[in-house]
Amino acid sequence: MTALSARRLLLVHAHPDDESINNGATMAKYAAEGAHVTLVTCTLGEEGEVIPPDLAHLAADRDDTLGPHRIGELAAAMAALGVEDHRFLGGPGRYRDSGMMGAPQNDHPDCFWQADVDEAAGHLVAVIRELRPQVMIAYDRNGGYGHPDHIQAHRVAMRAFELASDTGFRPDLGAPHEIAKVYWNCVPRSAVEEGFARLRAAGRESLFPGIATVDDVPGVVDDTEVTAAVDGSGYAGAKTAAMRAHASQIAVDGPFFALSNDLGQPLFVHEHYRLVRGEAAADREGDLFAEVTV
Ligand SMILES: [Zn+2]
Repeated sequence: MTALSARRLLLVHAHPDDESINNGATMAKYAAEGAHVTLVTCTLGEEGEVIPPDLAHLAADRDDTLGPHRIGELAAAMAALGVEDHRFLGGPGRYRDSGMMGAPQNDHPDCFWQADVDEAAGHLVAVIRELRPQVMIAYDRNGGYGHPDHIQAHRVAMRAFELASDTGFRPDLGAPHEIAKVYWNCVPRSAVEEGFARLRAAGRESLFPGIATVDDVPGVVDDTEVTAAVDGSGYAGAKTAAMRAHASQIAVDGPFFALSNDLGQPLFVHEHYRLVRGEAAADREGDLFAEVTV
């Protein structure tokens, strides 16, 4: 058995691509600095909308082979970020993408939205007790923007945080472990407004058919709610490459990108967080491991 790295970071995401969009620079930075970075993705993203016309046949309403394809995209994204440990909750395909809120796919018996939270959390507890991360990154209660899989990923991550340290829960999954700090992804309103101003000034309307609005960006909060900012400017190239690897879902153009709605939005290399469990080392931490005993 190999010894654990001193600093261990766990990220919980709903679909392949969410990690690169939200945390690509953070993941690349900590991996480059020698931390053990683990990504747990809850679904294969089978219901995603496909952007490139030559991949359109993969979609759920055609061949329904987008899931396996996105396993490959995620692997390429992880290679770009220098992250070696990426897993699917309960194994690949255990939970199916639930589609957007209100879609008939929400009722599919295998979808993540229909999963029993404690059972799903058990899979994550096994990972937590194996790797013993000091820091976990998850979504807020609304999952950033109300997608059922993001909301469920929030519930499962927070339940697993509780159960992992519970001595009475599933001793067969390993010794209890308490994660020292839990952060939720967020984006400060000022950064989003500044990003859209840059996008408008660059006249990018010609490259993407339109420009998104602040309301299209998940997890926007008032600046006062942000407690940590990771400066990932040295890893902009890695983040951009990781986002490009998710080619079925993301079109990247320099410091901007678009999802399947074709609306340009800024790509952030400073990534922001809100501490919700544990003690903050400062009003605005620059290091998620600050004050953590390693
Ligand atoms: Zn997602």
